[in-house]
Amino acid sequence: MSFFQKIKTGAAKAADKAQRTVETTKLSAQIAKKRKELKDNYTEIGAIVYKAYQTGDLSLAEPDIARLAQANAAIEEVIASLHEKIRELNDEHLCVCGQTVQANAAYCFACGRKLEVEEPAEDIEEEEAPEIGEAELEPWAEAQQAERPDDETPVYQGIAEIRCKMCGEYIRPDDRACTHCGAVQGTPGDTMR
Ligand SMILES: [Zn+2]
Ligand SMILES: [Zn+2]
Repeated sequence: MSFFQKIKTGAAKAADKAQRTVETTKLSAQIAKKRKELKDNYTEIGAIVYKAYQTGDLSLAEPDIARLAQANAAIEEVIASLHEKIRELNDEHLCVCGQTVQANAAYCFACGRKLEVEEPAEDIEEEEAPEIGEAELEPWAEAQQAERPDDETPVYQGIAEIRCKMCGEYIRPDDRACTHCGAVQGTPGDTMR
């Protein structure tokens, strides 16, 4: 590949990434709107139940509850399909725990499951996440920490990332488990299962 071809490819990739960000933002806005609809319906269900309770006959609420529950089921399906679109767009995976995980993550941030290969469930169960605070940082992890100065803390979806307590790699602050080593974050002894 020639130098100019390389530049072209790089520019195309950057444009592609920008486009993906735009599309993802649009889809996220649609999800937010749908979530609002869900919430409004829940609120309405609550009000209907309360009114019926006051009249002393809860069965009066049933037709309206059924209507709103069906509406919410449909909305949930739409939200799920929007999430699926975002995953396809950004090359993300869906963990068996139901969370969306970045394609390059080795472990699920939410449940700590190993993600590299599709292993049978039994194997995954046997996998033990390392205990926090038990081991010192590996030398390679310290070297990785040194590579990136503090003023270059990466930002994911507008949130500054923090370092894993075990391996020192950057993860999102609300991740339950490290996406690089699977270590459970938070209080020592805190386990997933
Ligand atoms: Zn998971
Ligand atoms: Zn880690």
